Amino acid sequence: MPLPAASGSPRSSAPGSSRTFDQLGTPESIVRILRSQSIVTPTPVQVASLPDAFAGTDVSCQAPTGSGKTLAFGIPLVAKLAESGASKPGRPRALVITPTRELADQIADVIADLGAAAGLRVLSLVGGETLRAQQTLLAAPVDIAVVTPGRAHDLRRRKMLSLEDVQAIVVDEADMLAELGFLPDVRGLVRACPDSAQRFVFSATLNDDAAALIRDRRPSSAKVSTHRITASRVTVKNMRHLLLRVDDNDAADEVVAWIASRQDQCVIFANSKARVVQLAKFLQYYDISLGFLHGDRGQATRRAVLEAFSKGDINVLVATDVAARGIDIDSLDLVVHADPPLDAATYVHRSGRTARAGKSGTVAMVVRDRQVDDVRQLLDQAGVDAEELRAAPGLPKFVKALGARRPRRARASSDAPGNRGARGAARGSSASGKKSRVHRPKRTKKKR
Ligand code: ADP
Ligand code: MG
Repeated sequence: MPLPAASGSPRSSAPGSSRTFDQLGTPESIVRILRSQSIVTPTPVQVASLPDAFAGTDVSCQAPTGSGKTLAFGIPLVAKLAESGASKPGRPRALVITPTRELADQIADVIADLGAAAGLRVLSLVGGETLRAQQTLLAAPVDIAVVTPGRAHDLRRRKMLSLEDVQAIVVDEADMLAELGFLPDVRGLVRACPDSAQRFVFSATLNDDAAALIRDRRPSSAKVSTHRITASRVTVKNMRHLLLRVDDNDAADEVVAWIASRQDQCVIFANSKARVVQLAKFLQYYDISLGFLHGDRGQATRRAVLEAFSKGDINVLVATDVAARGIDIDSLDLVVHADPPLDAATYVHRSGRTARAGKSGTVAMVVRDRQVDDVRQLLDQAGVDAEELRAAPGLPKFVKALGARRPRRARASSDAPGNRGARGAARGSSASGKKSRVHRPKRTKKKR
């Protein structure tokens, strides 16, 4: 199984370089935008990939979650397009392929911020929205399209989208695209782009199939540079792992309720859609403001829930893996695995929602006694050293470690997940359903 520290022969880059964005070749206009977002020191993955990217080389890069991969490809994309002519309607000059809708939105937001000064127009084109709306958006020139694979193919088939002008292709979260069975679709998209387009493949775990997207180039094969940034510095050191031992399922859910009642935000992962809904329903008995996400929720709802969570309007997000991959929430300090994940890579990805960009965070996994052997093996594979705690409502050590609190009963519990979703955010679908899919730059990045 591919894990962040998998072995291989790529060149590793020394972390801790003190080079600036400017020294790595970033144009001054972009350096200024980054500075306005308080981003001044490049992360190791950025140090490794930016010079190659600016030199026009294909770049394949494996780096841990939260290590700044979006900017590592976003900066060169924007720099490249800013100095090379204009785009035409329906014919983007750069294509970013990503597995989930939420990720597409998030990436498009980051790139729109960077490209604003150069007047670049960024669209996210994802499933779950009407083709007609996207047709309208594509009727104007588009510089960068951030897509999920299925929808991109749909749009191509209907001649609403052409990839013939693409100068750079990014495949982000390549391993998840592979896991979800999207690789043939991704290859199809890559093939529909000109041979000369520069290719970027980014992932937290990079498997062979994904890496081949770059390696298997047709003739006149371009130069390729491969980087692997090890996890230790960026993620593991500032991440504390707790294994919360409980007797059985009922105890597990009570413990989750105590944690969800804490003052600060957290994301809670569960293993299936049904389990997410069940947990959300259970937590609604208490005075906990929460939203929930899984792959079957409507796109507008998913977007509304995420927006409410990132604004801090809701405190708790209950989610399946597919709905939460790659999501970047500022200063989230706790991730809870309400169910142990089925494999080590998933543990790494879920946990990577916290301790991002050098901040510290805690990862707590609720483990029924019967699960503990499997879980120890999984943590071993993930290379994680977890501290074990007996967890039960009210136990001082457990309470203190997580800021857990006694849940208070909710006064009304009428808004069950069955109808429209959990409290607050899940109801907001009408509000953001009309949100334009053009990603307008925000002047400054909101920090909570
Ligand atoms: P990844 O894709 O590797 O999981 P992201 O690209 O989502 O990580 O970045 C994680 C967070 O780190 C984001 O909030 C981003 O704004 C921040 N970040 C990225 N690069 C830097 C940097 N050089 N300095 C400070 N923060 C950064
Ligand atoms: Mg990412």
